[in-house]
Amino acid sequence: MNVCVIGTGYVGLVTGTCFAEMGNRTVCVDIDEAKIEKLNQGQLTIFEPGLELIFERNFREERLHFTTDLADAVRNSEIIFLALPTPMAEDGSADLTYVLGVAREIGRLLSEDSARKTYKIVVNKSTVPVGTSDLVRSEIERAGLISGENFDVVSNPEFLREGLAVEDFLKPERVVLGTSSHRAKEIMTQLYEPFVRSGNPIIVMDERSSELTKYAANAFLATKITFMNEIANLCERAGANVEQVRHGIGTDSRIGKQFLYAGIGFGGSCFPKDVHALLRTAAEYDYIFQTLDAVIKVNDKQHEALVSKIVEYFDGSLDGRHFAVWGLAFKANTDDVRESPAHAVIRALLSRGASVTGFDPEAMETTRSVLGDAIMYAPDPYAALHNANALVVCTEWNEFRRPDFEKIKELVHDAVIFDGRNLYNAESLSRLGLDYFSIGRPQPARAFKGTVG
Ligand code: NAD
Repeated sequence: MNVCVIGTGYVGLVTGTCFAEMGNRTVCVDIDEAKIEKLNQGQLTIFEPGLELIFERNFREERLHFTTDLADAVRNSEIIFLALPTPMAEDGSADLTYVLGVAREIGRLLSEDSARKTYKIVVNKSTVPVGTSDLVRSEIERAGLISGENFDVVSNPEFLREGLAVEDFLKPERVVLGTSSHRAKEIMTQLYEPFVRSGNPIIVMDERSSELTKYAANAFLATKITFMNEIANLCERAGANVEQVRHGIGTDSRIGKQFLYAGIGFGGSCFPKDVHALLRTAAEYDYIFQTLDAVIKVNDKQHEALVSKIVEYFDGSLDGRHFAVWGLAFKANTDDVRESPAHAVIRALLSRGASVTGFDPEAMETTRSVLGDAIMYAPDPYAALHNANALVVCTEWNEFRRPDFEKIKELVHDAVIFDGRNLYNAESLSRLGLDYFSIGRPQPARAFKGTVG
């Protein structure tokens, strides 16, 4: 099939590459000329495990193309995916400027006589509020095209996880298609069949339910994390251990083991904006979604769970202190720093007069583009420790899991680790003579220098 993907970011690039991998002729479009130029030189623009291999193969074998020429891409494609940004607007809603702007442009292009003869499917892969399929359809109809005849609009929310995006896309647990068109359903099912050969379902539903499914999934996961963070905060006060509680409840199949890890809050390009957008959608329908309101409030200050331990340890003042921060990405295995809790921790430290040297295996450049010279950058994790009063761990990269603790003790002035991801064993660090603070777990008595808890 001839597929076009508009928007070549984390979702679009993975989507385009994976469709090419299944033998489709795929063209990815972006307005960012530098990005397209780099991709056309055979270089990836994001870090995503496993992407390079299939990107190179499909690019070399000329199934995967990149262009800034929307008109050409749309004309030559049967299925047109929108993988465009839907950032958070001032009022918390999803900003549909990109999606509707491109829909309008597609309408204009499709209305040109030469293109009109062929039926096209416009598929929305961006995360969009309930009713957006109708808006996209209206934009295209405005150009004089007839829905169901010249084109159909399909909602196809994307559930990939950054860091596991290729695996998730090639073997999705489910594919959700929102459409009331039999024709579109048949073609989309054909497109996705190679991805679900192991028997995972392609779930077809109406557009509005499909759009809401994506928000419900993200909001539920964000709620699960937040609930566990609150349990962790309570554990600290009540002298319980969140790791044991997690094990105790995670073994209950109704609850499940995943997304129960306490930490410094969720971040990334999706959960924060999607929770806000769903809250906003609810308000538009005169419904106060109280759970989500609480999720946002709790998450917004969860990074403080770590920062307040740091402040108390240093007797209430961070002025002139220096910190090494390991992990800048919003989670492991990505270079994405959008709404990264690590950045929230860094900003909190800087605002209290501290200085920071950061290290991340992949997110140095992306962090530099956001924080610039506000922090220093180290070439490796141990170089970041020089002159640091403390080590602060913010992202759960595997390479941080078993570090050389003797070296940390030798290099970090105050021999203390603040761990926002609960990576280490408190007792063994205590035996090594390192002070150690994590989230929701009891601290060895000797570790308390301030009034933590
Ligand atoms: P992104 O910011 O990484 O990529 C968006 C791309 O669209 C950018 O390359 C940008 O230059 C391009 N673009 C903007 N305007 C354009 C235009 N007019 N024409 C062509 N290209 C244009 O965004 P993303 O993370 O890939 O997310 C895209 C959508 O997918 C969002 O709605 C997001 O919520 C959703 N989503 C993201 C993830 C994720 O993990 N990142 C997962 C599921 C769903």
